[in-house]
Amino acid sequence: MLVLHGTGVSSGIAIGKAYVLHRERPEVPEYMLPQGSAEDEVGRFIAAIDAARTQLERIRDHIPKSAPPEISSIIDTHLLILHDKMICEAPVATIRTKHYNAEWALKTQSDELSAVFEQMDDPYLRSKKTDVGQVVDRILRNLLVPSNGEHEQITDALDGQIVVANDLTPADIVLLKHTRIAAFVTNLGGPISHTAILARSLEIPAIVAVHNATRAIRNGEELIVDGKLGVLIVLPEPDIIAEYHTRQRDIVSLKRELEAIKASRSETRDGTEIALCANIELPDDVKAVTKVAAHGIGLYRTEFLFMNRPDLPDEEEQFRAYAKVVKALPGKPVTIRTLDLGADKRAESTSRSVSTVTVNPALGLRAIRLCLHDTSLFRPQLRAILRASALGQVRIMIPMLSSLGETFRVLDLIEETKAELNRQGQAFDPDMPVGGMIEVPAAAVSADLFAPHLDFFSIGTNDLIQYTLAIDRVDEAVNYLYDPLHPSVLRLIATTIRAGKATGIPVAMCGEMAGDTRYTRLLLGLGLDEFSMHPSALLEIKRIVRDSSLQELKRRAQDVLDARDTAELHAIVEKMNQR
Ligand code: PEP
Ligand code: MG
Repeated sequence: MLVLHGTGVSSGIAIGKAYVLHRERPEVPEYMLPQGSAEDEVGRFIAAIDAARTQLERIRDHIPKSAPPEISSIIDTHLLILHDKMICEAPVATIRTKHYNAEWALKTQSDELSAVFEQMDDPYLRSKKTDVGQVVDRILRNLLVPSNGEHEQITDALDGQIVVANDLTPADIVLLKHTRIAAFVTNLGGPISHTAILARSLEIPAIVAVHNATRAIRNGEELIVDGKLGVLIVLPEPDIIAEYHTRQRDIVSLKRELEAIKASRSETRDGTEIALCANIELPDDVKAVTKVAAHGIGLYRTEFLFMNRPDLPDEEEQFRAYAKVVKALPGKPVTIRTLDLGADKRAESTSRSVSTVTVNPALGLRAIRLCLHDTSLFRPQLRAILRASALGQVRIMIPMLSSLGETFRVLDLIEETKAELNRQGQAFDPDMPVGGMIEVPAAAVSADLFAPHLDFFSIGTNDLIQYTLAIDRVDEAVNYLYDPLHPSVLRLIATTIRAGKATGIPVAMCGEMAGDTRYTRLLLGLGLDEFSMHPSALLEIKRIVRDSSLQELKRRAQDVLDARDTAELHAIVEKMNQR
């Protein structure tokens, strides 16, 4: 038995036989073309491009209807890359002028592109580099094996098997889902790659970054994949298999149990109602929200409407998107966060404003700073949100506030926009609540100064932790320092909640910490009023809320804040979670 560790990117347990896909980067031949054969070579290259297009289109046609929209957008991105001049025209010129063979012409072009990407240490662009590499590999495979019926290995019956590969593209995952694989494991990859995102939305247990998995595992070997913990067991003993079968059954019965409390109230044993809301990125995510009967939307990340496109969505387009969400959730609060672009979230159309900051984008012109810097970006959004407020219970939320001055400028802009809409006879909710995200330590420390001017707070722990502990949230090398239980983080959360309570405004949390069952009881004890999270986490959090007694948790939470060392702090939190 061998236990390997990687990064668990999609939870669930799978037990099955290994199917090892040996599909490392193709070896690229290099030779000069014989005199007069350049046009034939160009023809061969164009045929490989055409084949790649057909393959990608076929994959797009096979995407299940239930799959989230980002899947087809990933395939569309690959098609766009395929049609880019740098990929489909530049190698043709190289074949004609330098007489390189097609594979080598493509390889030299792709190396040049890689070098350009390498110089940009921006995670968004880096992810594009991966996409370009995947498209180039596809063309190379078509050149090297012209009869390649698109990964014929994959189209075999893989029912119930666990695929082990060096790396998998999003397109591979779509095909694999069809063959009903039980899970997948890759040597490479990271938690925020497209492939990982796809695995989560298609609910395929997956572990990435298991170095040497393809070398350590042979075809047909029995495997256990724990996609939550990132643990891979090769050739497990019978008693281990039995234990994991039990865990699988536990997961199934937990799912049933959670389904049963869907319609139940989200309140503690001692009768305090706790609002459990959902985070969404795109209007279509609302389906997942209604499925778990969330109280409402606690965070709508509107910047996703601005990404992966060359232009800006105008007021009308934004209004339609916001209205769609509001109408889909009648009577429920919808918290629309204004644009949080900058840092790792880029939109091509705003790059002019953002490009002035390249040194440290996480500390640069991001979120509300960008919006106040370029109000031509902000005003149409304010108008669209206000207009959508006429259709339901809209709340507006401002990201990354760090000073009162910014807060006042935003409030003034909202008032100006209301006056403008009034003059134009456009409907809006004059009492639309305005909340602020507390995600910069400066705002948390001085939350009492912000509270009188806002209608609610929402703590963004993803950034609050990044900025408090000085760890870039997209830098793998400092991941190990990420700690929601760091005393400084807990003190800032407690300070924010206290300030909200003292002023009488509700305090929510919409960072990842709010959807993590390890912290639910502690946050309840600290007095958090609302939790907002990925819809898939909501029912599990509800189960804990319903099984908690607030009075008791309050006492324990104070003990956590008073703890003098990390071991003591962790022990108290663990004890809170045991009851
Ligand atoms: C956060 O920072 O915790 C948050 C919810 O916002 P985002 O993850 O979009 O930065
Ligand atoms: Mg944030």
